[in-house]
Amino acid sequence: SIPLGFFGGIGSASRAGVLVKGGNYLEALGDVTTIVFDKTGTLTEGVFQVTGLYPADNAQQNPEELLKYAAYAEYHSNHPIAESIRSAYGQELNQDRVGSYEELSGYGIRALLDGTEVLAGNKKLMEQHGISYAEPVQHGTVVHIAIGGSYAGHIVISDKVKQDAARAIKELKALNITKTVMLTGDARSVARSVGEELGIDEIHAELLPAGKVEQLERLVENKPAKEKVMFVGDGINDTPVLARADVGAAMGGLGSDAAIEAADIVIMTDEPSKIATAIRIAKRTRVIIW
Ligand code: ADP
Ligand code: MG
Repeated sequence: SIPLGFFGGIGSASRAGVLVKGGNYLEALGDVTTIVFDKTGTLTEGVFQVTGLYPADNAQQNPEELLKYAAYAEYHSNHPIAESIRSAYGQELNQDRVGSYEELSGYGIRALLDGTEVLAGNKKLMEQHGISYAEPVQHGTVVHIAIGGSYAGHIVISDKVKQDAARAIKELKALNITKTVMLTGDARSVARSVGEELGIDEIHAELLPAGKVEQLERLVENKPAKEKVMFVGDGINDTPVLARADVGAAMGGLGSDAAIEAADIVIMTDEPSKIATAIRIAKRTRVIIW
């Protein structure tokens, strides 16, 4: 049976915007010492702005055309990167021109536009398709584009750190959280600047979804038995990691139904500081019970 206090704790958490799916998770929350965050949409706004269009030297496309191909490639994707590219293009897209379409989690998109293959994604996607690309010097997240098997250039987009994320990390450190970790599929340079701005202890970048699971499992295996590892993600591409954590939290309205299903805790707003609120409630609930 579950001590009555847990219901009180779950009620307080839900009034604070945090749904805890049972007393056992509330208890585990009180034992969390390591918190692992996904980057995009969790620590950052997940709203990218296009900041530059760079056709390759030998490309046949001008900047506007590069953006148009990218927008078509991203037609069917609901990734925050896709939304930013479509909104920067701003013109209507004709769905009939988009043929087969594939979203490769952690890589990007492969789509047919009027029968021509368009790739839009990171350098791993280019490498996977044998496309040679120029390593850009710009800061920001880079989306490389290849059209009909030729490298066409890249688009630079940038996202902002959530103001609430800095507050969250500070509050968590005051709550006995001994290690904060960030996992991301994005480039190392972007990961480093976000991690340093927030004071995250450990950063792992350029990860595929399976790499995120591996890092999480390593953290779970290498901690003392009583201590728990929590993962916090926005539910885009991170459901497998969510399921492996001692306590998995899905955050914000962006999350997919699958993520909300797999999560032990659902944060109803997009504020990471709610994690600190939930841990505080969990610890207080325990004091009342014992
Ligand atoms: P994060 O780990 O920061 O949450 P994701 O795992 O969602 O990011 O994506 C990792 C990387 O994969 C992105 O930084 C991007 O390079 C590439 N990518 C994923 N989806 C897309 C897309 N729709 N278009 C272009 N690139 C994408
Ligand atoms: Mg993500």
